[in-house]
Amino acid sequence: MTDSVFTKDQWLTALEGLKTSYKIFVPVKDGDFHTFKALDEGHKPDFDYKNTRMSPKSVVYPQSERMFEYTLDGSDPDAHIMKEAEKDYSPKAIVGIRPCDAHAFQIVKLNFDTPEYRDPWWVKGFESTTLVGLGCNEPCATCFCTAVGGGPFDEKGLDVMVYDLGETFLAKAITEKGEDFIDKAQGGSEADDKALKAAEALSSSSRDKIQASVPTDKLKDKGITELFEAPFWDDVAFACINCGTCTYLCPTCWCFDIQDEVFGKDGDRIRNWDSCMFPLFTLHGSGHNPRDKKVQRVRQRFMHKLKYYVDKYHNGVQCSGCGRCVRYCPVNIDIREVAKIMNGYT
Ligand code: SF4
Ligand code: SF4
Repeated sequence: MTDSVFTKDQWLTALEGLKTSYKIFVPVKDGDFHTFKALDEGHKPDFDYKNTRMSPKSVVYPQSERMFEYTLDGSDPDAHIMKEAEKDYSPKAIVGIRPCDAHAFQIVKLNFDTPEYRDPWWVKGFESTTLVGLGCNEPCATCFCTAVGGGPFDEKGLDVMVYDLGETFLAKAITEKGEDFIDKAQGGSEADDKALKAAEALSSSSRDKIQASVPTDKLKDKGITELFEAPFWDDVAFACINCGTCTYLCPTCWCFDIQDEVFGKDGDRIRNWDSCMFPLFTLHGSGHNPRDKKVQRVRQRFMHKLKYYVDKYHNGVQCSGCGRCVRYCPVNIDIREVAKIMNGYT
């Protein structure tokens, strides 16, 4: 596999050159936060960042996506026929994605790409995207990737791992997709032993900086009914204002709603991210709502991530430890604390 070293200027020039082969998304400073934006919109990448506020899941799975279009105009021979809306699956690359967010795509893949059901749009979006990771030299206090099967330099789910060695970037290809990306990146030189050793040292020192322990080992042994009926949910949910921030920022939340929007005689069928924290999420056409109370919705979020997913997929928890929901919840509800309560409940 190809391991190449680039000065930081060479890396930026290489990314400019790669725009002929990929639509490149990079972290960009946007007010007080960072966000992934397309390089071809004139944005300046800033790789000296902790993580973006919104996860990059929208590159593969847009927040709003036109699925079908139709016309109700009887004079049109195609009237009332649903046609798939045009979508762009040309090659894309998310450059600078953190390992937790790459791990999150692997978690979500288990939902959208199964032997029984394949979501064609998610799968095509994912397959056309190359994930070029940037390891975390300085994880945040809210990060806990190491407690949920990841790590600040974990390669799982990445096509390329980039190490920030101060003056230079070391780019290590992990998959064929990644090798193709690095082969196309002009201006680098072959990595020498010194760079490889520096990368190794960086990876292990960074892992040691993450102290959060989030016990999840006993979740699989708990009874669903016992956890569902446990008395602690009122306390967990007490402060929640059902704003949905935790679910919208989360790279492993995948729920959506489908709506028709009609303009005159033409219509679009659109899917939009939705949130289990909103009362309308489960409102039936009959008016009945099986989760009309806040405590039921908060319980659903944590039971889904920490129990239903665990039992269904046997793949750990539905969380990559990015810490966004901990950082941005306006009332400080902390999934690490809830995991401790659920894991220790007897
Ligand atoms: S971010 Fe916090 S307050 Fe908002 S819905 Fe999530 S848990 Fe509730
Ligand atoms: S549940 Fe919270 S910490 Fe886990 S992946 Fe989602 S936003 Fe990140």
